[in-house]
Amino acid sequence: MRRTGPDVAAPPLPSLEGLTAQFYEHCRREELSFQRCSRCDRWRHVPRLTCAGCGSNSWSWQRSSGRGVVFSHTVIHRALHPGFDEAVPFVCAVVEMDEGVRMVARIVDLVADGTAMLVDAAVEVVYVHAADDVVLPAFRLPAAEVRGNGRR
Ligand SMILES: [Zn+2]
Repeated sequence: MRRTGPDVAAPPLPSLEGLTAQFYEHCRREELSFQRCSRCDRWRHVPRLTCAGCGSNSWSWQRSSGRGVVFSHTVIHRALHPGFDEAVPFVCAVVEMDEGVRMVARIVDLVADGTAMLVDAAVEVVYVHAADDVVLPAFRLPAAEVRGNGRR
């Protein structure tokens, strides 16, 4: 089946509503920020109103170091949405940030061969301009790691 039309050609984008809109507003300024509880100092992601640790509704946005390590990853070989047809294969990872929160994001400029061990690899945030008003956080291996064949 041929897939065409503007409604299916572009990758899906996040819904910019509520706290999610606030998260992506930071990304649009190329800042990665997470919520942090004002009572117990726990960081959290994905955005939500209440702290899972202490139940407090008091929090603020705090800037992340932008650094973390790969907790888990997979290689996407088949685009399940036509917007990703040109992108495959690519690496999608769960990154554990220095602040302790985990987030799912793409690892750019790196295609694992299926045997590359990326778990515990240090990564740093980069920003992908996905649309006029949408910037998505992604990650890359630090430059020194890439020169070293992309592996630790
Ligand atoms: Zn708390």
